[in-house]
Amino acid sequence: MQTKFEVIVIGGGPAGMMSAINAATNGARVALIDKNRKLGKKLLLTGGGRCNVTNNRPVEDLIRHIPGNGRFLYSTFSQFDNQAIIEFFNSRNISLKEEDHGRMFPVTDRSKTIVDALEKELVALNVTLFKKTTVEKLLADTTKVLGVRTATGDLFAKSVVITTGGKTYPATGSTGDGFTFAKSCGHHVTPLYPTESPINLTDDVIKQKTLQGLALQDVTLSVLNEKGKAVTEHTLDLLFTHFGLSGPAALRCSSFVNQQLKQQTSVSLRLDCFPEKTKTELTAEITERVQQKKQLKNALPNFLPERLLHYFLTSVGIAEKTWPQVSQKELQTFVALCKDWHLHAKSTFGLEKSFVTGGGVELKEVDPKTLASKKKQGLFFAGEVLNINGYTGGYNITTALCTGYVAGMNAAYHAFD
Ligand SMILES: Cc1cc2nc3c(=O)[nH]c(=O)nc-3n(C[C@H](O)[C@H](O)[C@H](O)COP(=O)(O)OP(=O)(O)OC[C@H]3O[C@@H](n4cnc5c(N)ncnc54)[C@H](O)[C@@H]3O)c2cc1C
Repeated sequence: MQTKFEVIVIGGGPAGMMSAINAATNGARVALIDKNRKLGKKLLLTGGGRCNVTNNRPVEDLIRHIPGNGRFLYSTFSQFDNQAIIEFFNSRNISLKEEDHGRMFPVTDRSKTIVDALEKELVALNVTLFKKTTVEKLLADTTKVLGVRTATGDLFAKSVVITTGGKTYPATGSTGDGFTFAKSCGHHVTPLYPTESPINLTDDVIKQKTLQGLALQDVTLSVLNEKGKAVTEHTLDLLFTHFGLSGPAALRCSSFVNQQLKQQTSVSLRLDCFPEKTKTELTAEITERVQQKKQLKNALPNFLPERLLHYFLTSVGIAEKTWPQVSQKELQTFVALCKDWHLHAKSTFGLEKSFVTGGGVELKEVDPKTLASKKKQGLFFAGEVLNINGYTGGYNITTALCTGYVAGMNAAYHAFD
């Protein structure tokens, strides 16, 4: 078994595969190690099994959609960005298509297309693949890395790239080992927390499962601080579940819920079902649309999904009334529910069941241009192991592929230094 390489990459997710590809493209003899039998196990799950591989928005927008330290990525994206990802796959005969909000998927609608394309490239570049191989520790002296220890023996290289991902969905192999490796080389790891996570609510409407399974389109969900001021808000789709909220709007709000929960035991969320309209406009619209003779529960067809309309009308006590029986005050309370409904969160799902890990390897200790460790020569980082987290929508895979590209290239340069 070959044991000496120029670059060793730990972790065969998107960051690791791209690191290995680009290290090899730059002439290095590369080993890629993953504990699973197959590469890209988590990548296969993304985008509902279709792999939301990147996002077609301008770089500034990408950075805005990476609320966890997106600005660290300016240098990375100046070297390899979303357009470069699209070109990478196009030039390998993998066509991508754009869906809503700039999200890009393979035209096959199968994650396997992306994983196979990356693996094919690894094989073409003669990267040595160590599958079903777990790295147990980093080998290093006081100044530089020397290689890695696996259950089946030691491997040596002048450069080692850690791309072990975060700590979510641990069954995919991402169990946080890279944080331990980083710490063993003197790095700090900032506290880990769940992001892109479904939100648990305490409201009776959830406990009673009144709205379970209801999906709302393009509604605005806001996270409020103790003073009632919005700390973030997102206009996207939302799903009511048996525990609370899921869907893109909830996922995006989740890390802010967790931030607020550090200071308070319950966090208020505000749901606006008509973000395009003011309360005055909505009141006028209701007045115009209402079918006067019917009970209100039947008098506003297609105004809101039926279950939600019924819940709001019942909460105000006007479901059985006809329009002439409704007071101005009741109407305003109803409009307030439509535009300004408050729900209450006590937690989000834990790390294991969240999509993305917040926190990670301290960025001050990593050179943003090369992704090299400032603590140990020859050590590099890429992907979710870093203290970077994006929204769902392709931003995390973009981060993984782009940082992987930069780390792999610089790991090769270092090996030949
Ligand atoms: C269900 C789900 C849906 C998602 N949807 C989206 C989405 O729509 N858009 C988006 O942008 N992001 C999404 N994400 C997030 C995205 O998948 C991750 O951010 C991305 O995969 C991170 O890439 P990575 O290469 O850094 O790490 P990972 O993909 O986690 O890969 C790390 C690899 O390292 C290996 N490894 C770990 N420790 C060791 C060790 N000691 N020895 C050997 N190998 C090791 C693991 O086996 C694993 O294969 C989703 C995540 C989940 C769980």
